[in-house]
Amino acid sequence: MRHYDAIVVGSGITGGFAAKELTERGLETLVLEAGRSIRPEHDYVEHVQPWDLHFRGLRNRFELDENKPIQKHCYACDEWAEKFFVNDRDHPYTHDPDKPFRWIRGRQVGGRSITWGRQTYRWSDLDFEANARDGIAIDWPIRYRDIEPWYDYVEDFIGISGQQEHLDHLPDSRFLPPMEMNCAEHFVRDGLRFLGYGECLPHPDNYVRLDPSVVDRWGVPTLNIHMKWRENEIAIRNDMADSAAEILEAVGARNVSPFIEKTDPGFTIHEMGTARMGHDPKTSVLNGFNQSHDIRNLFITDGACMTSSSCVNPSLTYMALTARACDYAMRQLDLGHI
Ligand SMILES: Cc1cc2nc3c(=O)[nH]c(=O)nc-3n(C[C@H](O)[C@H](O)[C@H](O)COP(=O)(O)OP(=O)(O)OC[C@H]3O[C@@H](n4cnc5c(N)ncnc54)[C@H](O)[C@@H]3O)c2cc1C
Repeated sequence: MRHYDAIVVGSGITGGFAAKELTERGLETLVLEAGRSIRPEHDYVEHVQPWDLHFRGLRNRFELDENKPIQKHCYACDEWAEKFFVNDRDHPYTHDPDKPFRWIRGRQVGGRSITWGRQTYRWSDLDFEANARDGIAIDWPIRYRDIEPWYDYVEDFIGISGQQEHLDHLPDSRFLPPMEMNCAEHFVRDGLRFLGYGECLPHPDNYVRLDPSVVDRWGVPTLNIHMKWRENEIAIRNDMADSAAEILEAVGARNVSPFIEKTDPGFTIHEMGTARMGHDPKTSVLNGFNQSHDIRNLFITDGACMTSSSCVNPSLTYMALTARACDYAMRQLDLGHI
């Protein structure tokens, strides 16, 4: 029987980064991936013109209604990319009728790193201190200073185009040269200093559990998801719409009407929580290095570890936490602690 030093479950943004770190540090690593392999020359067709597609870019709507009734609502599930979204019938989950949750997923090597929009931002202490400051849920066991060097590390590897802005609430990355702004972007940028921020705070009534009555096509237990927008999120959403209108008015737009698209939870595709980090094993699953309080050689570094969410996209933070956790695990291994 072959033995491995480490097993990584999933080859998406976090699993992929973990596999990179562990193999580069010399561990024989097994990656378990539930999805299919990608054939770049066959699968990557984003440069194909709509008139060369079978449905001229309009998608096979009968097929999507049948097999992807949830995924089809994602903006990126178009005729070019719908193959990178799961078949909802094969990957079921449940929720209460009055608590819809739209779970957008991909099953292939690379996970959703194949489809993500590549918006890449650092979190700040506005995020890591939010729970302690507002007295909500539990405090994060880390602060920005703990993760800052790992943001540097990941950014040096992946390469992020951007511009230094010196904002406390959005720390600058180690940027590659910025892409040129178009004239509308230059114009609007001057109004952006009025923008506030939003976050989705952990709420005890938001939770997931295994659903014993539904198993997926392969017998893997499925999730029963409980998640609902609450007063805080609705207030933030309204404030964002008002702030956006203020920005437009500040740069000279007239007759601006704030517009709110009321979407169900899940559509932002930033699922977080369920195995959160914390100081206390009674109220959290992981310690500040993403290590299970109970099982010392188990690390969870994807969105499950997040203690609360932020208004900015999370994947850079997942990668930084993953690299940091791998570094910690290697040191623990050297010390014989795991
Ligand atoms: C259209 C779209 C746009 C997005 N835009 C952005 C963006 O601009 N910025 C940003 O930060 N984030 C964005 N995201 C979110 C980002 O893609 C996710 O945060 C990120 O991919 C999560 O990484 P992950 O490794 O946790 O999960 P995934 O990347 O989803 O990878 C999970 C992997 O695990 C595999 N898997 C699942 N179950 C099993 C099992 N039982 N056994 C083995 N393997 C399993 C899956 O096949 C998959 O390969 C976007 C997502 C989508 C879909």
